[in-house]
Amino acid sequence: MPQPLLKINEIFYSIQGEGRHTGMPAVFVRLSGCSMGCPWCDTKYAQAAFTEMSPTQIVAQVQKYPCKNIIITGGEPTEQDLLPLLQTLKQNGYQIHLETNGYKDTDVSLFDFITVSPKRYVSPQMLQKADVIKLVVGQETDLDDLQNYFAYHNQKTQIYLQPESNKQENIDLCVKIIKQNPFLRLSLQTHKMANIR
Ligand code: SF4
Repeated sequence: MPQPLLKINEIFYSIQGEGRHTGMPAVFVRLSGCSMGCPWCDTKYAQAAFTEMSPTQIVAQVQKYPCKNIIITGGEPTEQDLLPLLQTLKQNGYQIHLETNGYKDTDVSLFDFITVSPKRYVSPQMLQKADVIKLVVGQETDLDDLQNYFAYHNQKTQIYLQPESNKQENIDLCVKIIKQNPFLRLSLQTHKMANIR
């Protein structure tokens, strides 16, 4: 049976700049498209531009790099049929991380690490499955809404606050909230500071 083609925006080798795995080398597989349509989206370039690739072609591409960590991101990767790609990556010994907005309850059994970054809507089931819930915080953030996520913190699930655009006023706000709620963690976009992708 022919493998389903996936719409891939880009595949590149870099270093994870955010969250619990900050500093970890990884191959990023960015899938194209996201139906959420957030006006502030910082990956708008990934919405329409894509190359159709089979799982075999994607794995051949990632095998060019000396790294067994894969970060599946987007756009919103769960809007495409990832299963054949995940199975092929696993057969080749890869650790697979997922970055998702979590709006759709998804089978995550083949992922080794799941980061859910809620946007306009998020599935409560996905919040429960997350290893990390990453909340982007800016001056416009409704702090009451933010606190609704705090109940999902437990031994498995950590909550990171990420200052929007690394702006100092947003960093200050995150630090203040974290000091008031010390189970929270700070996520800076260190790849932007390092001027890498
Ligand atoms: S959910 Fe994420 S990828 Fe989708 S439009 Fe919003 S910010 Fe962009």
